[in-house]
Amino acid sequence: MFTNIPINETIDIISKRLKQTNTNTQYIKEITNILNTILHQNYFTYNLEIYEQKDGLAMGAPTSNIISEAFLQNIDNKIISIIHNHDKNSKYYRYVDDALYISQNNGSSINEIMNEINKIHNNIQFTVDKEDQNKIHYLDLTIINEIPKFQYTVYRKPTQTSLTIPYNSYHPPQHKMAAYNALIYRMLKIPLTTNERNKERNIIHQIANNNGYETKTIQKLENKIKNKLTKKNTVNETNAETKQTYTTLTYNGTITKKLAKIFKKVNINISYKTDNTIYNKLITDKNTEEHNKNGVYKIECPDCNKFYIGQTKKRLKDRFTQHFNAFKKPMIYKSNLATHSINNNHTFPNIKHMSLIKNIHKGTKMNIWENLEIFKHNDNNKLIEEQTQIRTKQDKTFQILKLLQHTSPTRRTYTHTPSNNETINDVSIPPSRHEADRKSFRQSKRP
Ligand SMILES: [Zn+2]
Repeated sequence: MFTNIPINETIDIISKRLKQTNTNTQYIKEITNILNTILHQNYFTYNLEIYEQKDGLAMGAPTSNIISEAFLQNIDNKIISIIHNHDKNSKYYRYVDDALYISQNNGSSINEIMNEINKIHNNIQFTVDKEDQNKIHYLDLTIINEIPKFQYTVYRKPTQTSLTIPYNSYHPPQHKMAAYNALIYRMLKIPLTTNERNKERNIIHQIANNNGYETKTIQKLENKIKNKLTKKNTVNETNAETKQTYTTLTYNGTITKKLAKIFKKVNINISYKTDNTIYNKLITDKNTEEHNKNGVYKIECPDCNKFYIGQTKKRLKDRFTQHFNAFKKPMIYKSNLATHSINNNHTFPNIKHMSLIKNIHKGTKMNIWENLEIFKHNDNNKLIEEQTQIRTKQDKTFQILKLLQHTSPTRRTYTHTPSNNETINDVSIPPSRHEADRKSFRQSKRP
């Protein structure tokens, strides 16, 4: 629904509403300016690309609820005038995107009404469910049309799975009980008949048992909620005096409970969070994941398809930003990759061109992996020329690699058999580049 709310139209509606309340014009101007700024900056990322949402409110933005309500209330007014034309005594209720229409004339004109309502705005189209066998479902209720008054039962969609966090799951007890808290609270608050309430209680107990909870745990919770509901009106006023502060802790069993107790003493309440969220389980986009790691990486030049190999103790994406900043400023001595793009007039790579070769933390190992990769790519002529970490002549690993390569059975063109004490300084790189390489390596040393 949020993405169907037209932004400019809604801002107009809000500004008109404010004018009706005799709000200061300067203030209205400020509000509309702010709304224009906020609501037109709808960006999201998908597959590492940034997109702009052209119209409609953002899903999940804290502002979307209230803004959409302003638009929908404007629609409500039009709907109410339509239905009153058909039946003066009819009633209309709406909760978010679910509306209920009660008429005194058996709903005989419902099709005409729907036609008119769906003409109000292209973006807002209603479908209708009519009363069937004296019953209609609205939100999580079944309303039964009985004389002298309506009866209610709890409505569960056929798709309801009745799965809650299992009792033996490693979660804060508060999180586990939250679902039952809501179910019991609803059971007590909705005007159910005794018979219906007992039925609902049995369903809740059944759900609890299926998820590994004991019936007595749920009964205890029900008593607690009942007490709260009866006390509510009297206790609330005294409680409002002491200010409560909240902070979040990752749940870690007993230790977190002990910490919560300590915080409680200074009036800080702890709400728990867990790391094993569905989001963390589902979002395993390889690229975003590897860009959060550190180690040896390569970046491909999109124009010549040659690589820059590097190592970093930072997250890959942070190191990428450094390369990018060096390119943008430009400060070429800070990045050989930037030097490559600038000198050759090649497109600067996108983060998609960066990939993790080896996730590694320690210095020596990291050097070895980096050298291995440089060696491999250099040998295939796949390195950008500006790659100056070819300090490999001084590096033991590189010497060994070179040696192995020259003695490998597949490459017999040049067989080098050093004696025990022989140093193999200039195996592959001409001496003329020696000094220059060292120099630019010094310059390109990572921060
Ligand atoms: Zn290039």
